[in-house]
Amino acid sequence: MKILVTGGAGYIGSHTCVELLNSGYDVIIVDNFSNSHPKVLNRIETITGKPFKFYHSDILNEKEMRFIFLNEQVDAVIHFAGLKAVGESVENPISYYHNNLMSTIVLLKLMKDFNVTNFVFSSSATVYGDQQTVPLKEKLPLQATNPYGRSKLMIEEMLGDVHISNPEMSIALLRYFNPIGAHESGLIGENPNGTPNNLVPYITQVAVGKLDYLKIFGADYSTLDGTGIRDYIHVVDLALGHIKALERNSQQNGIEAYNLGTGNGSSVLEMLNTFIQVIGRDIPYKIKDRRSGDIAVSYADPSKANQLLNWKASRDVLSMCEDSWRWQSMNPNGYEQSKNIEVSK
Ligand code: NAD
Ligand code: UDP
Repeated sequence: MKILVTGGAGYIGSHTCVELLNSGYDVIIVDNFSNSHPKVLNRIETITGKPFKFYHSDILNEKEMRFIFLNEQVDAVIHFAGLKAVGESVENPISYYHNNLMSTIVLLKLMKDFNVTNFVFSSSATVYGDQQTVPLKEKLPLQATNPYGRSKLMIEEMLGDVHISNPEMSIALLRYFNPIGAHESGLIGENPNGTPNNLVPYITQVAVGKLDYLKIFGADYSTLDGTGIRDYIHVVDLALGHIKALERNSQQNGIEAYNLGTGNGSSVLEMLNTFIQVIGRDIPYKIKDRRSGDIAVSYADPSKANQLLNWKASRDVLSMCEDSWRWQSMNPNGYEQSKNIEVSK
């Protein structure tokens, strides 16, 4: 089965390509490297020992994408490509709506033309907005609090309409919670551009000495230790969820949203302490004001994915932190000048 993976050179996409190749799927990656590095392709090949196809294209370029659909017998599409930084989306909403919505529209047009009906979409827990109750269930009314989240919400709604127009479609909306960790080889991992916005890459960059100290955004939430709580999920568990979604889509038509989370919440201080345990030394931090737009607590009810996809996250927070740290310490500058490893194709 041939899977077109958009954004396959990115953080979650690269880990998913590894799991797809390991499971015997044929993989075609399309990426414009707007937020990734070409070296990741060699690393995927090194880890899996399997060949795959790569097109250096922009999904917005319908002509090039049509060529790919003409050239390849695509059976299913996993659509990771998109812009994902919340703050940037507030500053530049048009580019977020343009890239995230238009890329999906181009893919859906081509899927219609080439009669491809299996679609797995990268959505986000951000579509739940700020809810009164946790754990978060798929049936909750959705709300977005920023242009990035709204782009995901709009795409979910658009996909609902597409399914009504063509009930033969099989669509999985995967709502990711907080992906962290890296492949256990340390060869691929999260490679943020500039200063990281997310907690885990920030902590690991403080630990390797690239940043001075962690700013903890608020210690006055009504949580056990006052810091924010999130459902951190190992990126490899997340990747495996995509394979389960593809399999279910192959067996059943319909459109379904699934939470991909562990169902457990960890606070910022708990995460920091786990990293201190893994690294074996202190990590400096300062308590700061709350970050605007942050919510206190977010964690999944993953029971729908457990039951319908037969998927369950199995890696704990300790192994997530160990794997994040291995990736960061082996690649202090991301894919640029990685230490100890030079991978050739
Ligand atoms: P990423 O930035 O590492 O990967 C996205 C990839 O898509 C990059 O390689 C980028 O170069 C590529 N890309 C972007 N626009 C493109 C275009 N127009 N044409 C071709 N390639 C393009 O991000 P990620 O963390 O791997 O996230 C993947 C998806 O999951 C995104 O849609 C993101 O919104 C969603 N998501 C991520 C998180 C998270 O915390 N990482 C959480 C929830 C949802
Ligand atoms: N956080 C923090 N310092 C940072 C980055 C994040 O204290 O430098 C906190 C943030 O307030 C939240 C948690 O860590 O409580 C996870 O934040 P992240 O940005 O990783 O994920 P999101 O808030 O998007 O779920």
